[in-house]
Amino acid sequence: MTEVLYRKWRPRQLKEVVGQEPIIQTLRNAVSLDRVAHAFLFCGPRGTGKTSTARIMAKAVNCLKPNDGEPDDACEICQSINDEQSLDIIEIDGASNNGVDHIRDLREKVAYTPQQGKYKVYIIDEVHMLSGAAFNALLKTIEEPPGHAIFILATTEVHKVPLTILSRCQRYDFRRISAEDIQAQLHKLTSAEGYEAESECLALIARASSGSLRDAENLLEQAMVSYGSPLTEAQARDLLAMGGDERALELVGHLVNKSVTEALSLINDASADGTDLRQLQRMAINYLRGVVLIKSGVTESLEYSNEAFTRLKPMAASSSIDHLVHVMRVFSNADTRGDEGVATLPMEMAIVESSIERTPAVTVMPVTSVSKTSMKPDSPVVSESPQQSNQRIENGRARSSPSVANSSVPPQGGTTRAPVRESDPEWDSVVRELRRSKGERFNLGALLRACTSREISEGKLILKFGHKSNMERLQQEIENPHSRQVIQEAVQKVMGTSYEIAVIMADVESSRQSPAQRSHLVRKAQMMGARVVSEKEEEPGNDE
Ligand SMILES: [Zn+2]
Repeated sequence: MTEVLYRKWRPRQLKEVVGQEPIIQTLRNAVSLDRVAHAFLFCGPRGTGKTSTARIMAKAVNCLKPNDGEPDDACEICQSINDEQSLDIIEIDGASNNGVDHIRDLREKVAYTPQQGKYKVYIIDEVHMLSGAAFNALLKTIEEPPGHAIFILATTEVHKVPLTILSRCQRYDFRRISAEDIQAQLHKLTSAEGYEAESECLALIARASSGSLRDAENLLEQAMVSYGSPLTEAQARDLLAMGGDERALELVGHLVNKSVTEALSLINDASADGTDLRQLQRMAINYLRGVVLIKSGVTESLEYSNEAFTRLKPMAASSSIDHLVHVMRVFSNADTRGDEGVATLPMEMAIVESSIERTPAVTVMPVTSVSKTSMKPDSPVVSESPQQSNQRIENGRARSSPSVANSSVPPQGGTTRAPVRESDPEWDSVVRELRRSKGERFNLGALLRACTSREISEGKLILKFGHKSNMERLQQEIENPHSRQVIQEAVQKVMGTSYEIAVIMADVESSRQSPAQRSHLVRKAQMMGARVVSEKEEEPGNDE
């Protein structure tokens, strides 16, 4: 695959925008009647087509041969916009250019007439991120825009956009795209890419992406890179087990275990990649409720997947009802609706609070299949004091750096190996850093996402793969100096240390491990000094 699917398959005409028919119809009418507003506000969840539609509108109003409100997507102007060469389309990312200076700059330049087309189109993405002063400057501009200027503001959080701005914009609410529409689009893409896919595979991906076509297309690409053609339902299940509401499950695991550092870093990663924190909170509470009900022996009314159920069961077994109720109370009281200050703060406070108030006793016996684990009495589950956690929040993104992780790992038999977490928010960040990076042949983020586990040994970061083809693809990329450098830089940026990268197959080692050793809870307990004393066989089909 030569291009990230999402970019490659970006709609080029309004009629290709998926799942937003009423909006598209209105916009086409406006263009064909030449009654286009000077300020638009596109709001709605991520991945629903806001920015794509803004770009198409820029073409539609400037196209030399528009037809029925659509750009022809072929004339000189359309082409230069497609190639991102047009000087008349100015895209501003509110998240990175939030300074008032950029908007002042915009105000100065907006007076100049367009170079090529009829209109200058300013697309301001994530407009809610602008500072107060920047909003004021923007307001002055859109109050009296020159006739040749069109502003298209896009946001996922419309409640953070000042009313004074709202009132001057024509507002369009992009809705979550239905699973059917997404599935149909995925079907189109797979056929066009020459892949075969079971329809249940595409349906699963469509449902898991909760209305975001971008998420769905990224998942599909991941599946294509990881598994090749044909894509099966089982592969989709595999893939989704690694993402989706995985995060909520993971968070609940951390809360139950009082793993403050991990929980904080998970929240900050989620926030950084645009996850809806309220949604995450809701899902986590739902799972916490599940843990409480399982603990109480009430399982009839639980509607969880088998996978989720298997994960929740040991959490119930390893934790006291007191602690569970405490966590649930604190967590459901966290008010994530606030629109001022740091978005992650209420959740962070809830995490820290849920871990204290009670003496951090070692009540955790993480895994049912381990009948006895010996914990050092001085290694409580809470690995740091709330005060330390707060300091880390103040320092910016809370995350566990390798040095911190290492300091909590006792040296094991003189080996230099330090385990790196399997379900690993830090690794997710590396993957995210590279999601737009193309190596010699492959998308590097997609390749690294297929890495099943990692290990650091003698200054090398060893990446393990479950599929030979992925391992070979990454090997090939690492041999390319440019790709290697890009990967190393991302690792350095996220993990704070520069590593040489090596790749190996994961299977040999994990197949020798007992089921208990394969459990990430057991590994985590071992990292904190626990030792497996004895294991007993579990009934088949219950290997967590
Ligand atoms: Zn055109």
